Amino acid sequence: MQREHYDALVVGAGFSGLYMVYRLRQLGLSVLGFEAGADVGGTWYWNRYPGARCDAESLVYSYSFSKELRQEWRWSERFATQPEILKYLQHVADRFDLRQHFQFNTRVKAAVFDEAQSQWQLTTEQGARVSARFCFMATGCLSIGRIPNIPGLENFQGEHYHTGNWPHQGVDFTGQRVAAIGTGSSGIQAIPLIAQQAAQVTVLQRTPSFSVPARNQPLSDDYIARFNDNYDEIRHLARRQEIIGSGDVAPDPADSPRMSAQVAALSLPDEQRQQAYEARWNHGGAYIVGTFADLMVDENANRTVADFVRGKISEIVKDPETARKLTPTDYPLGAKRICVDTDYYATFNRDNVTLVDLRANAIECITSTGVKLQSGEEIHADAIVFATGFDAMTGALSSIDIVGEQGLKLRDRWVAGPRTYLGLQSAGFPNLFMITGPGSPSVLSNVVISIEQHVDWLVDLVKHMRANGIEQIQPTVAAEDEWVQHVNDIANATLFRLPNSWYLGANIPGKPRVFMPYAGGTGPYRDTCDKIAAENYRGFVLGRASTPA
Ligand code: FAD
Ligand code: NAP
Repeated sequence: MQREHYDALVVGAGFSGLYMVYRLRQLGLSVLGFEAGADVGGTWYWNRYPGARCDAESLVYSYSFSKELRQEWRWSERFATQPEILKYLQHVADRFDLRQHFQFNTRVKAAVFDEAQSQWQLTTEQGARVSARFCFMATGCLSIGRIPNIPGLENFQGEHYHTGNWPHQGVDFTGQRVAAIGTGSSGIQAIPLIAQQAAQVTVLQRTPSFSVPARNQPLSDDYIARFNDNYDEIRHLARRQEIIGSGDVAPDPADSPRMSAQVAALSLPDEQRQQAYEARWNHGGAYIVGTFADLMVDENANRTVADFVRGKISEIVKDPETARKLTPTDYPLGAKRICVDTDYYATFNRDNVTLVDLRANAIECITSTGVKLQSGEEIHADAIVFATGFDAMTGALSSIDIVGEQGLKLRDRWVAGPRTYLGLQSAGFPNLFMITGPGSPSVLSNVVISIEQHVDWLVDLVKHMRANGIEQIQPTVAAEDEWVQHVNDIANATLFRLPNSWYLGANIPGKPRVFMPYAGGTGPYRDTCDKIAAENYRGFVLGRASTPA
């Protein structure tokens, strides 16, 4: 530890933390970042499971702030692998000399606001304390992995892994019997590759996911050139994406299956609808969710696209009973995060892959030799892969003891669900900022684009504060209440409200059921943030430290 006081502290060294530190250093602030991992990368440092890759196109799942960075980095595939994204973030850290501002292998355990000094004091797990006027939580929406509390895991004699904390040296499953629990995006990416290596894979599925083919491919020079020719337009479209999958970011926007934002699915004859879905299915990626304007708000419209994907599952999977089990029937497509795969459904045609429907036959316990089902059957396994997800959106923040004004704990303030203004700040916690916090588009968008928007907005705020001698900022409770209501109203007008999803915290026992991300689209959200800033940060209280906020 070099010193005890900085202008700003940043927690996390993923896409958010790296860019935040870069921008703060540009302003000339002294900054220290903390990262629990041994290096930069965040999600892409931790999630090293086979098949891990982005499902937003690499060319837009990357920073836009530096033209030079863009020109010198060449993505090799349409959807980059985890090692390539990690290499990119390591390159960003090297290129902008960011590592020197981070302390790695250091988990922050507490953040306490010192009212007398108007500064945040962070305590690390090693016991070090550092203070700063500004504190930026770049701790990630999906950074606290969760292994469900299944009795008996401690007795298991084989190895077990969580996709979000995968061994750095990789895992060789050759000759092994593997039980894979969880069929969300991580499981759907990992299972086909594990099945190619292992002797036997048993997939334990509680809820079937809707998955669409990635149609991943190497990026040709021509593709990249066309992308670069249309760079500004593509970035503009991506910044104004409505919901995940609806962005239109193919290299030539004129060619790509365009989002028919104004067209309702139900206004078209069936044949035309099917053609539109088929085009997006063939194009690959999550774009199918954005085929028509009403898919995420009208259950009948959604049924048309869900039926289309259900039809594809039954075409691909040869055994009708397995196809039936793999087919989601009880929630709208896209209302749980849509998955993007390479050969997921076809993997169930392999002789060494078996599907267990946990809804019909739940897990009773884990034994020393495998997983025992309620029917009494035991799945013998040498290894168990938990692709069981994350304590999303609030998990990383509530893992830290965050204490604001008058001893107010963030955990207590959020006991009935997260409360923020714009997903950036919570009342009672002056100068503590969240990057892609709950109440912002975050996980419903291309997250890197949302990260850049948050960081840029926050840097403008810091500049404004410094130029005007303002020392503290926090939202009013009224502005926060209004925003929380708005976030809820928007979610309630969509189909996102229906299934048990991690967007609602439903995957964590005891977590309040509150829709956490902002579903109003990144374009309107961005406009709202800009308008609020232009109106002298309406809804925030700005003041000197001595002026009670
Ligand atoms: P993270 O990358 O999660 O980084 C947060 C960092 O903070 C972590 O390294 C963590 O160790 C650190 N940290 C947290 N708490 C503490 C603490 N108390 N002390 C010290 N350090 C701490 N999004 C997309 O838009 N498109 C995709 O294709 C996509 N694919 C994904 C694939 C996977 C497997 C996962 C899990 C997520 C994916 N996401 C995707 C979401 C992804 O998390 C974001 O895109 C983005 O990487 C988040 O960056 P971040 O810096 O905000 O958070
Ligand atoms: P997830 O979507 O939450 O999926 C977890 C899976 O585990 C679900 O199938 C869930 O079933 C199952 N599960 C949880 N607890 C269980 C239990 N006790 N018993 C049996 N099954 C259980 O987690 P994830 O797959 O890690 O993905 C999380 C998010 O990360 C994604 O939605 C996405 O945003 C991001 N991600 C993106 C990519 C990508 O393609 N780029 C890849 C990975 C992750 P239920 O549905 O029944 O709860």
